[in-house]
This record gives sequence, structure tokens and C-alpha cells, in this order.
Amino acid sequence: MARYLGPSCRLCRAEGTKLFLKGARCYTAKCAFERRSTAPGMHGRGRQKPTEYGRQLREKQKLRRIYGILERQFRLYFARAAKKKGVTGDTLLTLLETRLDNVVYRAGFAVSRALARQIVRHAHITVNGKVVNIPSYQVRANDVIGVVDREKSRALIRGQLEQTAGIPAPEWLPVNKEELTASVARLPERGDINVPVNVSLVVELYSK
Ligand code: SF4
Repeated sequence: MARYLGPSCRLCRAEGTKLFLKGARCYTAKCAFERRSTAPGMHGRGRQKPTEYGRQLREKQKLRRIYGILERQFRLYFARAAKKKGVTGDTLLTLLETRLDNVVYRAGFAVSRALARQIVRHAHITVNGKVVNIPSYQVRANDVIGVVDREKSRALIRGQLEQTAGIPAPEWLPVNKEELTASVARLPERGDINVPVNVSLVVELYSK
């Protein structure tokens, strides 16, 4: 599956907010956004007041970039969310949040979503005891996310857990650091998902 391969920090500057795409670096003074928060490019400093459409577009781009999803796949997520019962924006967030790569990141098994994606791709992760190497795999309530029983994989995840020790796992995803497992106690709801995005503007954009 294709993904964005350009500089991550440029995306934060383009969106005018920290998207936390680079793991530990995002929390240090080395963060590019902390050093220069203007938009990238020649006209970065002279940004004009955004239109309504511009605001909707920016929120959508932010959400897409946080989860590392390209436009085409993002539209599919929206279409799926719109078909389900309930508030479309909330359903969209739940679908994105329950991607396997995001769950690996939220469990603290990776310092960033980009790395979580790579860890899944390289077959270090299991779901209910079976290896799953598809980052977009959708986890369900009661699934147990684990690490392949191989010393290399376990050492990798233990190393990541040391780096993410200060970040608590979400309530819906209790983590057992000894066994290197994370259990999906329930599906995450809007209140569990702390992304700096006004998702109703995303829904407005696609509902036109
Ligand atoms: Fe964004 Fe992290 Fe880069 Fe800072 S270090 S600009 S938060 S990706």
C-alpha cells in the first residue's frame, strides 16, 4: 500500500500544528515546528485568512496525515463510516483508531505510527495468536495484540516500550508489558481519541 514518503515535519508546518509524526523527537526542542512554525515554502509567512472550504480541507488533511493515510483510502474510510449507523465523524475516528498500526502505536509498541506500520509490515505482530502483517487490518473488541514469539521481535518491542514508558496506554487498550500483549477491551469512542482535529468539518467537506 502506498504511503507518503516526504519529510514529516513539513506536514506539521503545513497544518500549523504538531501532528506528532516522529516519536520521541516531537517532545524535544529539536521539533521542527517548535523551531519554525510558519508554513513551508516561499509564501509560508504570508498565509491568508482561510475560507470555509479551506478550513474543512485543512482538518481533513490533518486527520489523514496523523494516521498516515493517502487520499483514496481515506475516502473509502469515510464511505464506510457514512454507511454505518451513528455519528459519521465519530465512526470515522473509530475506524481509523482501530487500524492495527495505530493500535500498535497506542499500545506503546512503537514510538510513532510510521514505525508501527513498519513493525506490522515486517511481521512482528500477532492478533489472537496469528501473525498479521497488514497495517490497515481492523481490530475488534476482545482481540489480543501480541508479539511474534521470536527473540528479535520481542527485543524490538521491549526497546520501544522503554521509549514510550511515559505515555499511558488508553483505557480501551490495557497493555501487559511482561507478556507484551495489548487487549482491545472495547472499541474506542470519540472521547477516547485525542487527535487535534475538528472532525465535523471533515464530514461537512465530504458531504457536499
Ligand atoms: Fe511534527 Fe514531530 Fe516534526 Fe515536531 S518533530 S514538526 S511534532 S513530526
